[in-house]
Amino acid sequence: MLKVGILGGGQLGRMLLQAAANYPVETFVMENDPSCPAAHLCHHFTVGDIRNFDDVYRFGKGLDALTIEIESVNEDALEKLEQEGVKVYPRPSALRTIKNKILQKEFYKQSQIPTAEFIITNNLEDLHKQEAFLPAVHKIGMGGYDGRGVQVIRSKNDLGKGFDAPGVLEKMVSIHQEIAQIVAINEKGATALYPPVEMIFDPDLNLLDYQISPAGLPDRILWKIEAIALAVVKGLNSPGIFAVELFVDKQGEVLVNETAPRVHNSGHHTIEANYSSQFDMLLRIMLNYPLGNTEHILPASIVNLLGAEGYSGTAHYEGLEEVLQMDNVFVHIYGKKETKPGRKMGHITIVSKDKQDLTYKAHRIKNILKVRS
Ligand code: ADP
Repeated sequence: MLKVGILGGGQLGRMLLQAAANYPVETFVMENDPSCPAAHLCHHFTVGDIRNFDDVYRFGKGLDALTIEIESVNEDALEKLEQEGVKVYPRPSALRTIKNKILQKEFYKQSQIPTAEFIITNNLEDLHKQEAFLPAVHKIGMGGYDGRGVQVIRSKNDLGKGFDAPGVLEKMVSIHQEIAQIVAINEKGATALYPPVEMIFDPDLNLLDYQISPAGLPDRILWKIEAIALAVVKGLNSPGIFAVELFVDKQGEVLVNETAPRVHNSGHHTIEANYSSQFDMLLRIMLNYPLGNTEHILPASIVNLLGAEGYSGTAHYEGLEEVLQMDNVFVHIYGKKETKPGRKMGHITIVSKDKQDLTYKAHRIKNILKVRS
């Protein structure tokens, strides 16, 4: 039986292990918190720091394949493991390009992949010289995550809000739609694309409101998205699962925002809504099986269940019974003991032939279901 390891034990690892339960595979997880969401679903759990060379190297040695849950892993250790014959998804070289937003943007530019125009800034002093480039968005090179590490700089009065660290200043895009395109690619270079997902943001809170898949797109835009996402993945030269996040601007241009080299929040609906989920697909790739079928069985939407503002401590779920009474609704609670404002505690998938039903239920669930302490 092949031995597969996951670096990080959060919800992505948990859902990957749920899919792994169907295959002949022995699973290993490393994470510093022994009560993390994935800990009790794997065959072997190791306490360790995914950013530490020795911890990652020791964990990976002797495994057949390794994957990641989060980009902030020690890629030097992954590189050494790769040299010693462990298959790493994504390849450490692709991870290195993506992990640093400066290298990521330069990769798009060199590969002629459309992306918002940008300037590299080394510090705040540098940023202050770029008044003529505004309005723009400043992004920290390393360590940004879930919106931290991104700052909108509309005018020169906002320049002080930028990062005093190496980063990129990107032209502000007039966004019409935000799309995520998940692509699977195996060792032989064969690819499969999932139907694109539209991410709908709450204009007041600037938070992801819900997602809907397949996104409502004219064919011309869909083809651009598919071609661009394929170019990104081919250019990264690595097997695995990739989530390419794109903007469709008000002129109908398609620009790459960023890429995640792993299973992604925008693909959770594929568990119920598509023949092969993103988790099933990654296992097929790691275990050297044929790629699965990415087609959707039914359209779907996802609502993320975030810790409510003002509540920290042991998580308590309000409204679950009412949500579970609804048809075609699937609840995923990640099993995190402690809630914090904005923490990802679970998600709800809704499937339906009827798009109105998807948005209606998404809004209703957002109102009913709360995570408090
Ligand atoms: P993170 O990796 O933290 O999610 P992103 O790079 O995806 O950061 O940016 C977060 C959000 O900021 C995006 O979803 C988008 O709404 C907005 N954003 C990012 N870049 C731009 C841009 N160049 N123009 C306009 N809005 C942007």
